[in-house]
Amino acid sequence: MPESGTARCHCGGVEMVAEFPSRFVAHCYCASCRRTHAAGVVTWIGFRREQVRITKGADLIRDYESSRGTHRKFCGQCGTRLAFESSHGKWAEEVHMPLAIFTTPVDRPPGGNAFPEERPDWAPFNAHERD
Ligand SMILES: [Zn+2]
Ligand SMILES: [Zn+2]
Repeated sequence: MPESGTARCHCGGVEMVAEFPSRFVAHCYCASCRRTHAAGVVTWIGFRREQVRITKGADLIRDYESSRGTHRKFCGQCGTRLAFESSHGKWAEEVHMPLAIFTTPVDRPPGGNAFPEERPDWAPFNAHERD
């Protein structure tokens, strides 16, 4: 099992490293994830905040507060989505990263579907057991 994973944005300006074990990998169908990523589904991998560090391009990262206390971060140069953080609720200690930005294998397969009731009919669906 790898000890850490590396992620980067499309332009390569931002690089991040996350230490395993991750907390979860899950597909999210909520309208906010789908719209902010312009995608039918967003697959997230979750970490405690101290497990994730920005190894390149911290100054390029832009922060969009999508709802109060909820921050969606992206590369200001190429627009790649990099992280979801919320200052309240059950995820306050976590950073969620899109699995798609990883360039190396992660430590688990997807284990759940969040907000499946918000999925549009056309979006791909991967049925499986929850963690
Ligand atoms: Zn970029
Ligand atoms: Zn979501």
